[in-house]
Amino acid sequence: MSEKKILLTESEIPEKWYNIMADMPNKPLPPLNPATNEPIGPDALAPIFPMGLIEQEVSTEKWIEIPDQVRDIYKIWRPSPLIRAYGFEKALDTPAKIYYKYEGVSPAGSHKPNTAIAQAYYNKQEGVKKIVTETGAGQWGSALSLACSMFDMECEVFMVKLSFNHKPYRKSMMNVWGGTVHASPSELTEAGRTILAKDPNSPGSLGIAISEAIERAVHTENAKYSLGSVLNHVLLHQTVIGQEALLQMEKAGDMPDIIIAPFGGGSNFAGLAFPFLKLNFEEGRKIRAIASEPASCPKLTRGVFRYDFGDTIGMTPLLPMYTLGHNFVPAPIHAGGLRYHGAGVIVSQLLKDKLIEARSHHQLECFEAGVLFAKTEGIIPAPEANNGLATVVQEAKKCKEEGISKTILFNLSGHGNLDMSAYDAYFSGNLEEHELTTAEIESSLAELNTPTI
Ligand SMILES: *Cc1c(COP(=O)(O)O)cnc(C)c1O
Repeated sequence: MSEKKILLTESEIPEKWYNIMADMPNKPLPPLNPATNEPIGPDALAPIFPMGLIEQEVSTEKWIEIPDQVRDIYKIWRPSPLIRAYGFEKALDTPAKIYYKYEGVSPAGSHKPNTAIAQAYYNKQEGVKKIVTETGAGQWGSALSLACSMFDMECEVFMVKLSFNHKPYRKSMMNVWGGTVHASPSELTEAGRTILAKDPNSPGSLGIAISEAIERAVHTENAKYSLGSVLNHVLLHQTVIGQEALLQMEKAGDMPDIIIAPFGGGSNFAGLAFPFLKLNFEEGRKIRAIASEPASCPKLTRGVFRYDFGDTIGMTPLLPMYTLGHNFVPAPIHAGGLRYHGAGVIVSQLLKDKLIEARSHHQLECFEAGVLFAKTEGIIPAPEANNGLATVVQEAKKCKEEGISKTILFNLSGHGNLDMSAYDAYFSGNLEEHELTTAEIESSLAELNTPTI
């Protein structure tokens, strides 16, 4: 048996982020001003983001230097390990070789601090005192609270009400790192009050929480807004994952045929896959990258590619992306995270151009894969990551049926140690299969009056 765990030294933490915009054959269409449907310039983003991040958002430079201060904080948990899943392979009785990059080693337990630290850094540089954000299951809010504490800034978090009630310990983590947390929809913003007036029992959604956080940031002095996924600069920061993984695969004397990652807005998928897609662009390799999403929030596999808002109220620019419609609220019985209605514009363009693939899974299939992984590899995966594991299982079984060995690289985006209520629900039979009907998707999309592409 060759090595189980492939490690790198601190000096091998990447010094630059990889910007896939430089290599994409078709660049994403520009964001539009919803009032005029004209392309917006970078200045339009200045009220909510610091210039350092706006420059990255629109950059087509292939490599962007990682500031030393950010790299120094990365050293707390990076480089993250690449692990060969011998136990999982054996349980699946597959000839496939399965590796996973483990991002659960960060203090917040997921990949999200990779961008949170960078975002806090650029905000601090420009004199920002407070960052306001939204969070779904709580991983992003905890990552940003951590990052703000490292840079001595305040952090205010609007947490989707359903998770606020189901995940008390995520909220506690934010509090430990000094973050303030509100259940969303809240009475604190016009956006929240509008939603509550329509539906006092609204479980909330990421789209609603984003509207609240933007409104709050715009109306607070020395405050900016921050997003934990979807945007180009967020995907950029996550490319430390794939750059490390590439070095580690080389050390293992192997190369992935298939890369698999769970998909919410696209950041951990992009982070792992983009540095390998670079090889496809530059050397004509044919590495496949598959994004795994829940069947109850299937924007990549059943959504439409068109302009849509990033939030529910319609405060963001219009973005060209795969979407289920900005009014879409996923069913509350869905336990596995990844509840966002849209997808990042870069990932959407790559999918449109068939340079990446997408697949959806039912939640029971995901938890079955996650529990098998926990029993054989030890780590309890975040429920989001179980979506990716369901794809890994499918591909490993296909290798078995076809009698061929492929190398699969999977992003274990986080651990699930704070998500045990979702596992409890699975074991007690309280997780239901949930597939959206075509009528539900069509009715959400029918409400859109944004430009088509
Ligand atoms: C947030 C999160 C995701 C999904 O978000 P992406 O931006 O698509 O990566 C997946 N896994 C974990 C553990 C997360 O915290």
